[in-house]
Amino acid sequence: MEVKYLDLPSQFNTDEVLHEIKSILESCQFVMGPQLEEFEKKFAEACGVKYALGIDNGTNALFIALKILGIGTNDEVITAPNSFLATAGAIVQAGAFPRFVDISDDYNIDPGKIEEAINEKTKAIMPVHLTGNPAKMDEINTIAKKHGLYVIEDSAQAIGASDELGNKAGSLGDMGAFSLHPLKNINTCGDGGVLTTNSEEYYKQALLMRNHGLKNRNEAQFFAYNFRLDSIKAAVAGIRLKQIEKITDQRNKNSEQYDRGLANLEQVIIPERPKDVRQAFHTYVIQVERRDALISYLENRGIETKIHYPMPIHLMEASKEFGYKKGDFPITEEQSEKIITLPINQTLTEEQIEYVIDSISSFYS
Ligand SMILES: *Cc1c(COP(=O)(O)O)cnc(C)c1O
Repeated sequence: MEVKYLDLPSQFNTDEVLHEIKSILESCQFVMGPQLEEFEKKFAEACGVKYALGIDNGTNALFIALKILGIGTNDEVITAPNSFLATAGAIVQAGAFPRFVDISDDYNIDPGKIEEAINEKTKAIMPVHLTGNPAKMDEINTIAKKHGLYVIEDSAQAIGASDELGNKAGSLGDMGAFSLHPLKNINTCGDGGVLTTNSEEYYKQALLMRNHGLKNRNEAQFFAYNFRLDSIKAAVAGIRLKQIEKITDQRNKNSEQYDRGLANLEQVIIPERPKDVRQAFHTYVIQVERRDALISYLENRGIETKIHYPMPIHLMEASKEFGYKKGDFPITEEQSEKIITLPINQTLTEEQIEYVIDSISSFYS
């Protein structure tokens, strides 16, 4: 049996996608076509926010959020060191210092460690809903309010997730940033992203910021960027978005099957599943003993796995100038050597997942 990590062709090579792309090729409204606004409306609905704005990728959605809030040189933004590097990358590109805070067993930033990282330069907290599991936003928002900080959610992995009260990722802070990269749960045919907010002021700033600062056809209010999302990508993401409940349900169901099947293995640590939270599993990450040997063993049995992420951001060469060192974030560092990501994509069958579970069991026995 073969268990692939991904199955993209079945998602994109469909009559509906081809038809939509063809109609845009006919109209040639490639930039800021009506498909963009239509997609934004649907995305805002899906996240329960007033405004959603298509951006050319998720990294720039994070970046633009920081710029809208005026965050840059001499400022600090608190975030987690175990994310995809783009979270810290956006902070650095805005000119600010990425102030890392260690994580908890749920792979998300530990709210109990945030306050000690706040200083007079701190302007914002950028929690990441890693794996599709919402960070502890209640506690984070309370701390932010107490210290007058902004909150930007890195929701790139969490489209469709919601907290205990049913509030959706992307609606839980001042702004939320999503990615439509082909690897993400709701994706498009290339790079893409979305910025969400309930603030009319931020929305209006974002509209200017993504389009050269143009307030009308010929005149800019300030110099800015070209971060527009192409019509074709917006249209394709819109088609994918229609299936959000189905995709999320299936990925969550796959995760539950793993949770049950692996629960009795003492070599496997499964994170606690928070009650009443709707996770939107983007990745299925567990911690295991003898991780690298397990990966090879599974590979030999036709099972593709990944590691998200093998190197904490603070230990990358790119972080050298920030003065972090090994030992600064022990939980992140320990997890980085034990985590493995099993395939959970929505096209997998129950039999395939059972085969992965059986293979892991047989490795440890
Ligand atoms: C994918 C991802 C991003 C970046 O999104 P792009 O669209 O690839 O720029 C940022 N943060 C996290 C947590 C991600 O998973």
